[in-house]
Amino acid sequence: MKLSHRISNLTGGGSDGWGVFYRARAMKAAGTPVLELTIGEHDVLTDPAILDALHGAAKAGHTGYASVPGTPALRRAVAARIEARTGVPTGPENIIITAGGQAGLFAAHHAACDEGDRALYIDPYYATYPGTIRAVGAVPEVVAAPADRGFQPDLVALAKAAKGARSLLINSPNNPTGVIYSRATLEGIAKICQDEDMLLISDEVYDTQVWEGEHISPRALPGMADRTLVIGSMSKSHAMTGSRIGWICGPKEAIDTLITLSTHTTYGVPGYIQDAALFALEQGPALEEAVAAPFRRRRAISQDLLAGQNVVQAAPADGAMYTMLDIRATGLSGEAFAYKLLEDEHIAVMPGESFGQSAAGHIRVAMTIADDDYAKALSRLLAYVARMADQAA
Ligand code: PMP
Repeated sequence: MKLSHRISNLTGGGSDGWGVFYRARAMKAAGTPVLELTIGEHDVLTDPAILDALHGAAKAGHTGYASVPGTPALRRAVAARIEARTGVPTGPENIIITAGGQAGLFAAHHAACDEGDRALYIDPYYATYPGTIRAVGAVPEVVAAPADRGFQPDLVALAKAAKGARSLLINSPNNPTGVIYSRATLEGIAKICQDEDMLLISDEVYDTQVWEGEHISPRALPGMADRTLVIGSMSKSHAMTGSRIGWICGPKEAIDTLITLSTHTTYGVPGYIQDAALFALEQGPALEEAVAAPFRRRRAISQDLLAGQNVVQAAPADGAMYTMLDIRATGLSGEAFAYKLLEDEHIAVMPGESFGQSAAGHIRVAMTIADDDYAKALSRLLAYVARMADQAA
């Protein structure tokens, strides 16, 4: 079958960066126990009370076509949550409910970019970003957030790349680095977006996972509400990854066109899932904090273990469920190190290179296993780096 260039080239060719993960899964399938610190999936499942709400809504009959933009009650609840967290006046007309953050990322780029437009994103990046941009016919282009800047974007490089670009995608708290963008970084980004007339797509799916400092939504900065599309999701905040529910928040005219796109693609999100999401949001910050708590604890475990050694440098892991570790003292690439660690120690991590060149020589550790196992895995990992670094010296 002759397929479109766009779909055939979605990933841009080359390795998809998931080799270590697949190898770990194959080892497990063959019976070898592996400690998996790879993907961003909670080890605690969706709260049973949310599942009861989902079941109850389905039993009560919310199983037909649901309202395409999202149910009025859920749009209102999301808008109220965003207004409460950011202070920016937000109504249901500013919200469309999407099938998770990923569908939101795709739709937002569809709204922002025409065929051939340059769409910027920051390296290191969440693995789907370049493919999502290609999926709408735009041309992905990275701007570095280098390790030696604590993985904050290089604003000089951004200002240069922004000339003639249509959109910029950012993600804070960040996957893969765990870094939160500072106010100075976000103000710099906002100025560049305004100077160069770029749309900002702000992926804030980790906004409830803030361990240190504050999360600032760039939509709240002066002059930005009119040019920002915020991507939100219940996946991380409420451990609802499989329910596929999130949203885009933006100017009404953008949301109206996105509703038309939704009518022609997903036709909305199942009504009983929307009702469950509404129930979850109505539980307020207490439930969000309970879902975030295991990562907060493991982040403290990481800080303790890292403080007791001086071979591995860590990125400032102020948010999200990841820690990015610099293993360059071993003389290995992140990928070579991750394969060796898997073979020798049966611990699986993601190579930094899977998330772009700015994270080369690093590994991403997902804090997604039980506290005791996590502590053991991380201390073994750190001891392993120390041994490898000794051999390399
Ligand atoms: N953005 C980032 C930065 C992510 O890490 C993820 C999921 N890992 C997503 C978006 C998409 O999440 P979902 O579609 O489940 O909301």
